This record gives sequence, structure tokens and C-alpha cells, in this order.
Amino acid sequence: MYDINQVREDFPILSRKVYDKPLVYFDNAATTQKPLCVLDAMREEYLNVNANVHRGVHWMSQQATELHEQARETVRRFLNAKSTTEIVFTRGTTEGLNLVASTFADECMQEGDEVIVSTMEHHSNIVPWQLQARKKGIVLKVIPMSDDGILDMEAYRSLFTEKTRIVSVCHVSNVLGTVNPVKDIVRIAHEHGVPVMIDGAQSAPHFKVDVQDIDCDFFVFSGHKVYGPTGIGVLYGKEAWLEKLPPYQGGGEMIEHVSFEHTTFERPPLKFEAGTPDYIASHGLAMALDYVTKLGMDNIAAHEQELTRYAIQRLQEIPEMKIYGKLRVEELRDENDYNRRKEGYGFDAVGKNSQLLSSNSQHLSSNSQLSTFNSQLSTFNSQLHDAVVSFNVGNIHHMDLGTLLDRLGIAVRTGHHCAQPLMDRLGVLGTVRASFALYNTKEEIDTLVAGIDRVRKMF
Ligand code: PLP
Repeated sequence: MYDINQVREDFPILSRKVYDKPLVYFDNAATTQKPLCVLDAMREEYLNVNANVHRGVHWMSQQATELHEQARETVRRFLNAKSTTEIVFTRGTTEGLNLVASTFADECMQEGDEVIVSTMEHHSNIVPWQLQARKKGIVLKVIPMSDDGILDMEAYRSLFTEKTRIVSVCHVSNVLGTVNPVKDIVRIAHEHGVPVMIDGAQSAPHFKVDVQDIDCDFFVFSGHKVYGPTGIGVLYGKEAWLEKLPPYQGGGEMIEHVSFEHTTFERPPLKFEAGTPDYIASHGLAMALDYVTKLGMDNIAAHEQELTRYAIQRLQEIPEMKIYGKLRVEELRDENDYNRRKEGYGFDAVGKNSQLLSSNSQHLSSNSQLSTFNSQLSTFNSQLHDAVVSFNVGNIHHMDLGTLLDRLGIAVRTGHHCAQPLMDRLGVLGTVRASFALYNTKEEIDTLVAGIDRVRKMF
């Protein structure tokens, strides 16, 4: 485990004051703060190496190109992709989702073909498909969820038809913190010969992601949510898919040869990277990924799960508190309870589920046993809560609560969190959302709880 005080010194912004109160930054699901190593590396590159990449024979261009391509290798390692040819730099999660929705629909979908998404998607995994629905007449099908925010896996199975072409779902809900059972989602889709895109905006910052283990066909995330700069993101795509899909935008960098009669394109990933890339940001992102890797993704996950558990426990002390999502503190009181529950499902360790699944399936004789086991596995996976807690308190409007907390120096998010269909499902206009990062502390959660209590007494 890392030294939290030392870590906080890497993020000078955390020691600033807001309205003369120490800042408590709990809007990490929107964007994270940046460690000095990221800021320093980007400044250093602008000061000493700045030149356009891939184009110059001169020294600085070659240096900048090397940093940019090294960053691609750092991302490959971070996701455990097979090859850097599977790593496309984008502007962020939104661009990655749009890129795949647009090129996949162009290449692989016709009128009436279907895409499966889930109830808990961010707008950026709904609207790009709706744009394709308008253009090509494709159809969106939606995986329903329980009141506790767990995807209904039986309903998911039943959504597949002969016209299903792709599944596109979030790894972790940005509102509920639900960790979806993406390995099961992928396995089931692959049984139908259907590829899967995972929106990893809220998973990549919080725990180790292994795209080969998940076996997803596409995975997208944003640099700015993983302590990197804004304006850079990543699309991972299996090589065969990136070869198959057409270019998204045209311009420099993505071509092999251009004439007025006929243009040929670069191979992936450059085929999808038209124009000058944000090579300073890719370097910054690599520094951020090195930073979290050095702290240890497992350490970060453990720290944030502890914070989340503590937050849920403390928040539930507040009268009229309504927390959205599956995890009730009485269900998951402490580490021991967590372990007991895990054992109840027959698992030794988080992350080892897949091996256990395969070894267990050899012992499960009938299909129905296997199906029960799989659904238990899904439920278990779903019940791991990520570093997000969404809530409302009594009749206090979420905006009022957020605004008054801000006056106490506490930054939380309020509103629909770009997930209006999910708000409809929950039957609310919006929520207050506190989201945690590797540098947050239990003392900050105490400040939040005291702040909410103070606001509540004003109403
Ligand atoms: N998907 C999810 C689950 C998100 O939480 C977000 C951002 O909040 C996005 C997509 C969009 O990310 P970006 O705005 O960085 O493209």
C-alpha cells in the first residue's frame, strides 16, 4: 500500500482552498487531478522537444515521434493488448465510441440490424448509435437492470436475434458504480458470433484492465480520468477488427498514397488517426499510466474500495439518505464480511474468477448447474462496487445540496450525469455523486458527511 500523504504531495492542487475552506475534491469520475510528473513531462516536451510527429527527418521530430510511439507501448502494456497496432489514440472515450459506432455501422450494419446497449449507459454510448439509427435505420436494444442497478443477464441473453451485430456496454456505471460482468457479457455475445465494445471510462482509472482476459473486441477510455491530460484517449481494437473497419476521418497521417483518382490508407492504428495527433498529451498520458502502475493498480483498487465502503457506511448514518445502486452497507459491512460473501459464491480471490470458472465448469455436470454457477458469478462480479456513490437526501434538491457543499469547499457532481435514461429508470431527475480517486482520504469523507448533515439541518 502507498503512503497517502506522500501521494497527495504529487497533486499540489489538492492543498488549495476554495471559499477559504480546504478543497475536498470528490468529482473524480468527471475528471481527475494531475500529478506533477505529468505536468512536468508535458512542459518539458513543449520546452525542449516540440515538433510535429511522423513527418520530419529532423532530430526534434524524431524525438517527439519516439515519445509518442513509446506512449503507445505504455498504453499497450497498461491494457495488456497484444500489439501496439491495436492501440489507436483518440480525443477521449466519446470519440472512441463514435469512431466504432460510425465505422462499424458503415461496414457491418444494414437497416433493421441491432446493437445491444444497457440501461446504465452514459449518453456517449447511446447517442452515437442513435445517429446511426437515423442514418441507417439500425435498432437499439437495451439490457434492463434491477432496482439495485444490476444488469439482468437472463434478459441480456434473450435480446440476441439473427440481427444482433454488436454489443456496446459500460464496464462500470458512472452513476451507480456497478461493475458489470464484462467477461460474461463478452462470452455470451461471442457464443452468438457478435463482437463487444466496452466503455472503460470508469474502469481504467480504478482497477487493472486486461483486454485479452476480458476478450472484448473494442475497449475505450479517456486519459483525463486516469490522471492524464485532457484531449487524449484510447481505442483498443482487436487487430482483425481494426483491419476490417474503414477509416473514420480523412486527412494527413492516415494515408499511404493519395491521388485524385484513388487513395490508399495506412494500416491500423494510423488509419484511424487523421491529422496531427496530440503528441504532447500522449506523452502526458504515458506518464500518468506509469504513475498509477508504479503505485500499483491493485493498491489503488484496494484503497478506493475501502473508501467506498466507508463512504456508504457513513452516508447511511444520515437520516433520509437514499443511495442508488446495489451495495447496502448492511450487506457489506467490512473486509471480513466481503470475504465471507465471496466465499459464499465459491471464489478464492477477486480477479481469479475466470480460472475458477473454467476449473469449476469441468466439475459441473449438467448445463443447468453451469448456468446457475454463471449467474452467481455475474451477480458476484456486479456486486463489486467501484469508487462512485450517488445519493439524494430527503426532499433536498440535488443542485441545492451540491451548491451548498461547494460553499464548504466540497466538490461533488449534481444532475443527471449524462445518463438521463438511467435517471428515468431510477425515477429521479438527478442525484448528488461523490466519486473517489487514489488520493482521497477517509477524513475527507467525514468532511462530506458533516457537510451534508449541516445542509440537511438548514432545510
Ligand atoms: N462513458 C462513461 C461511463 C463516462 O463516465 C464518461 C465521462 O464521464 C464518458 C463515457 C465520456 O468521457 P469523455 O467525456 O472523456 O469522452
